[in-house]
Amino acid sequence: MKLTEQQWRERLTDEQYRITRLKGTEYPFSGTLLHNEQQGSYHCVCCGTELFSSATKFDAGCGWPSFYQALEGRVSYQRDASHGMERTEIVCSHCDAHLGHVFTDGPQPTGQRYCVNSVSLSFKGTAE
Ligand SMILES: [Zn+2]
Repeated sequence: MKLTEQQWRERLTDEQYRITRLKGTEYPFSGTLLHNEQQGSYHCVCCGTELFSSATKFDAGCGWPSFYQALEGRVSYQRDASHGMERTEIVCSHCDAHLGHVFTDGPQPTGQRYCVNSVSLSFKGTAE
């Protein structure tokens, strides 16, 4: 899915645009989904693609929603050497929205920690 910068600006809030299209980062502990413990799925705020399941969410204590696994094929990985750090950026495979970064200090079974901006995600709870 390819939209122009202008189209993204029109469909996203300023904060969503800053983070997902300009690779920004929300303040730690500011995200509305950080302590969300409901069962459900997490979707790309830009295009709606389902990215993460609540079953893989855990509290990493880092201030951002964290998951130990992404849904198969939904997330793409890019080397990020900005800010003097060597990190792996994660983006939505469908629309290239910046999501956050993935680290290798997560819990088992994967050992991965997907550190994601709340702003990049929309949550859909499982119907009760
Ligand atoms: Zn997307």
